[in-house]
Amino acid sequence: GRDSIMKEISKTVEALKPSGIRRFFDLANTMEGVISLGVGEPDFSTPWHICEEAIQSMADGRTHYTANKGLLELREEIAKFHSEHYNQDYDPKTEILVTVGGSEAIDLSMRALLNPGDEVIVMDPNYVAYEPAIRLAGGVCVPIVLTRENEFKLKADDLKKAITDKTKAMIINYPSNPTGGVMTEADYREIVPIIQESGIYVVSDEIYAELSFDQAFASLSQFEEVRDQILVINGFSKAYAMTGWRLGYILANPTITKALTKIHQYVIMSASTPAQYAAIEALRNGYDDVILMREEYLNRRNLLVNSLNRMGLNTPMPHGTFYVFADIRPYGLSSEEFCNELLNQEKVACVPGDAFGPHGQGFIRISYAYSLNHIKEACVRIEHFLQQFK
Ligand code: PMP
Repeated sequence: GRDSIMKEISKTVEALKPSGIRRFFDLANTMEGVISLGVGEPDFSTPWHICEEAIQSMADGRTHYTANKGLLELREEIAKFHSEHYNQDYDPKTEILVTVGGSEAIDLSMRALLNPGDEVIVMDPNYVAYEPAIRLAGGVCVPIVLTRENEFKLKADDLKKAITDKTKAMIINYPSNPTGGVMTEADYREIVPIIQESGIYVVSDEIYAELSFDQAFASLSQFEEVRDQILVINGFSKAYAMTGWRLGYILANPTITKALTKIHQYVIMSASTPAQYAAIEALRNGYDDVILMREEYLNRRNLLVNSLNRMGLNTPMPHGTFYVFADIRPYGLSSEEFCNELLNQEKVACVPGDAFGPHGQGFIRISYAYSLNHIKEACVRIEHFLQQFK
């Protein structure tokens, strides 16, 4: 029949595993009465003044393609924001590309940088989209194991050992999904000389920058000596509760930005125009919303982490994002078994830590992008679940 005639699909794609997060939620969705602490997106709606600006832009007929790199007005606001908030200076004309979410930026960065066989250093555990992006671009992933004992930070010695003459780039993400780990300026200072000497690029996914709770947000791109080696990814999804708008951006030196734009102009043309107008409004008038949401996440974090520790589920205090990475090693179950049992017995859905890499084993990711009441109810169930291990 047809099957024997039709050609195979790409071997690289065939070999990609479906996201471990999705697999778990497909299961949870078939059950009734499940309380989820699983999703990785804000529960808040996009602030209305931001939505209104998109509506107004459509009413005005501002509904055409924009420049490939995005509206200059938007790039100027992005530049201003990064300069004022993070001390990162990028030229809106040559160093900023507006993308379809941070997701597109991750993919573009790998395709723009890699030749087949180039090595890219990734963290284990890390966000699920990096390794597929590397593989699809013909690269080879070289993991660095992060540990709870090191607060899931990247250490200079580990980085040194991972770099070979094939290393082209590294992808980092702080504040980190899934661990909630954060790197401070002092932490980065330790690795800056290694990055400078090796000449590798660093893709720094800073999408949770605004969700840094306990210390000022720091970035490698703030170090002048490596600034041109860093590709900064950020976007509107997390800080402004705009996941569905699909808008992000990437900041990089002019040569890299030109390369990224080459791919983007053929694959995307330009990011959604109404979303770009909404983003301008977000940057001009949305910072109060960011602060309010951050304060609410902070309340939730404190409630959740205190409750989990009180009931004996040993949980390091995450300093950023809206995730906690709870240590379940004392219970003698794998992450998958723990999550399955928690789901079946108490109908609470969390994500097994090894969905983020083999060394996420022994942890579960719990999201607190949910209301305080939702989190309280989930905690009652988790506490009941833990009784059996006493
Ligand atoms: N990076 C990280 C670390 C994320 O957690 C996410 C969203 N889950 C993204 C990038 C992608 O976000 P978006 O494409 O919505 O900007």
